[in-house]
Amino acid sequence: MLTQERDEDLLVDFLNTLDTDSATDELATQAGLDAWASRHGLSAGDLDEARKTRDALRLLVTGGQPQLPSVSLRASCDSGGVCLSSETAAEAALAATVVLSIQGRISRVKLCQADTCREAYYDLSRNGSRAWCSMEVCGNRAKARSFRSKQA
Ligand SMILES: [Zn+2]
Repeated sequence: MLTQERDEDLLVDFLNTLDTDSATDELATQAGLDAWASRHGLSAGDLDEARKTRDALRLLVTGGQPQLPSVSLRASCDSGGVCLSSETAAEAALAATVVLSIQGRISRVKLCQADTCREAYYDLSRNGSRAWCSMEVCGNRAKARSFRSKQA
């Protein structure tokens, strides 16, 4: 097992297995899921379950209330108390979502508001009001667009 990855980093990276901008999906094939899981020190698990979990969680972070796949989570003890242990990609993403929800931080996991982007990110702004994955890229693009429409 690798050193514990932060829940928000793991979840954001899992959500970003779908790249709507370039229309690529890392979870399109079992090999893609295997590669993702091994980068995170996890076992891949079932491809269909991983895809369903990913799609449900992308809906969840945009304010939806999706039906979550029945992925089992196990509690185990570590030096800090009790934590959720997970083996597969889908379990780890769901466990991270549960922890972030309990901590009141799941609302900071967002998808970029730019329609052409929809990249997941963790909002570190003080009041949690960031709307784009990156101010430099999508934020400026949106500002330029609204500037042009005001000029017209
Ligand atoms: Zn963006």
